[in-house]
Amino acid sequence: MIKPKPKNSSPVPKWDCFFHLMTKISQYVSYAEAIKSQTAERKNIVNTPSTEALENMKYVAKNVFDKVRRHLGVPLFVSSFYRSPQLNKAIGGSPTSQHCKGEAIDIDHPKLNKKVFDYIRKNLTFDQLIGEAPDEDGNFGWVHVSLKREGNNRGEVLVAEFINGKAKYIKYEDWKHGRK
Ligand SMILES: [Zn+2]
Repeated sequence: MIKPKPKNSSPVPKWDCFFHLMTKISQYVSYAEAIKSQTAERKNIVNTPSTEALENMKYVAKNVFDKVRRHLGVPLFVSSFYRSPQLNKAIGGSPTSQHCKGEAIDIDHPKLNKKVFDYIRKNLTFDQLIGEAPDEDGNFGWVHVSLKREGNNRGEVLVAEFINGKAKYIKYEDWKHGRK
């Protein structure tokens, strides 16, 4: 039975907004997690990508995140994806951060970040791949990866060690040698 609509009911909820948040930008990445930021929520910063940035994000999600996710077969966490310029400033990100263009994603898993890193390094096209905050066992705190839709993707591989909270970038080959 179809219930008749109650008259004078409360205002129509913002379903547009609701469905937008439920939308997937790729098979494994939702719009909600792609724009989520605790800092943005805490400081009330708007973190809405432009159409252009959203297209870049879809490309990264499909060609990087989904491929790693499918290969490893376990859920992976998106720790940071899109950052509006205001949000990027608030968290002290690099002014030229590719997160602001929707071209970079930070991927995290409690145990498998080295596997995420190695799979991308050996199998995928990327602009920059960074193993962030390595521990003593050579696993990473998280993995930063960027990919551009147009132009040259450099395939640069770095490791970022944090000393007193400041990142020091080392070429992956040099870092690997230093560990031997
Ligand atoms: Zn990043």
